[in-house]
Amino acid sequence: MYQSYTEEQLQIRDLVRDFTRREITPVAAEWDEKNQHPTELVNKMRRELGINGLTIPEEYGGMGYGSVEQCLVTEEMSRGCLGISLCFGYTGLGMLPILKGATKDQAKKWLEPVISGDMGISFCLSEPGAGSDVPGMSTRAEKKGDKYIINGTKQWITGAGDAGAYTVFAYTDKGRGTRGVSCFYVPRNAPGLTVGKKEDKLGIRASGTHQVIFEDCEVPAENLIGKENLGFIYALHTLNASRPYVASMGVGVAQAALDYATRYAREREQFGQKIATFQAVQHILADMSILVEASRELTYKAARMSDANDSNLAKYSAIAKAFSSEAAVKCATDAVQVYGGYGYTKEYPVEKLMRDSKILTIFEGTTQIQKNEIAAYAIKEAAQKK
Ligand SMILES: Cc1cc2nc3c(=O)[nH]c(=O)nc-3n(C[C@H](O)[C@H](O)[C@H](O)COP(=O)(O)OP(=O)(O)OC[C@H]3O[C@@H](n4cnc5c(N)ncnc54)[C@H](O)[C@@H]3O)c2cc1C
Repeated sequence: MYQSYTEEQLQIRDLVRDFTRREITPVAAEWDEKNQHPTELVNKMRRELGINGLTIPEEYGGMGYGSVEQCLVTEEMSRGCLGISLCFGYTGLGMLPILKGATKDQAKKWLEPVISGDMGISFCLSEPGAGSDVPGMSTRAEKKGDKYIINGTKQWITGAGDAGAYTVFAYTDKGRGTRGVSCFYVPRNAPGLTVGKKEDKLGIRASGTHQVIFEDCEVPAENLIGKENLGFIYALHTLNASRPYVASMGVGVAQAALDYATRYAREREQFGQKIATFQAVQHILADMSILVEASRELTYKAARMSDANDSNLAKYSAIAKAFSSEAAVKCATDAVQVYGGYGYTKEYPVEKLMRDSKILTIFEGTTQIQKNEIAAYAIKEAAQKK
């Protein structure tokens, strides 16, 4: 389908595109090298961009935009630097369980500091022994009087070092399996909560990834998001809604790879001619262009389905995420190829794209997990056609 955007959507995209060109792209390599969360830059993004509450409904004080606008923002920022984009954007995932499950009063209270730009919220689902196998998690929350006591360890938590609060999934009734999972809003200063050491990662090095440890961590009973034992449903709704965002990160990274590769191919000379004149190089650029366009179509299709609450969102967000993330890895790797030996050094930006892109095929469900879901749909649909 031909993609068209409203004037307002294009204005949001251009605002972020301009900010990214001025403030993010020029410092991307520096923060990758420093391996640090760029606190001042993130504060500037929260203060100046005016999009902290982009997807938060107006009734909670937000701007009331949807997934398409969020994807446009994420695509543009990721085009500049996927790591820095995540430093700003991790709350987009962390607050989704609140948007999906919380009462109006809870949502208003907890999202107010997000809208004001005072803090971020991290999403705590994965554990050391339970990544793809979410039901295999072991964190528990036990109700004692007017409190819940949480025990367990969450692994790979994006933004955990910066966040002011966490949305945490824990078993409240392990015997009921996925129907015994609940979700909690846990402020960073809750007694018994510790943020572990920062992981030393291959890519997205500006974005901090930490363990979050809960040892007899106490939260008031009213910090239960929505209803007890509905946490797994909130998690599924969260991931279905957030996968188009990850897909849009892939579009941004793939587009950046294409931008750099085409520019370089037009400058670099070998055998007395620009390498852009060699058909072998042209075909690499053509393959990259195809992947960028196809990723963008699938991503914004899923985003529009998310905004329309389409019942097939799970299938199409998995397709968009699987395709776009793998396409980003391929495009980034191809960009290194077009740069030749120079692409393999830190003097040029494409090796970072290659390192950064790989996470897209892993977090928020690996490519294999997306394919499990897509195949289940394909098989079910075939059975229904008989
Ligand atoms: C940098 C980073 C940031 C992250 N941020 C967050 C975050 O903010 N919050 C959060 O909760 N989590 C986060 N994660 C966790 C991420 O979602 C998990 O790493 C991911 O779901 C995979 O889990 P795992 O690492 O335990 O791998 P495993 O589940 O152990 O998988 C290992 C391999 O086995 C394959 N595999 C496993 N099960 C199946 C199956 N049934 N069928 C086919 N193949 C299978 C996988 O595809 C993979 O190739 C982050 C991870 C990283 C690395």
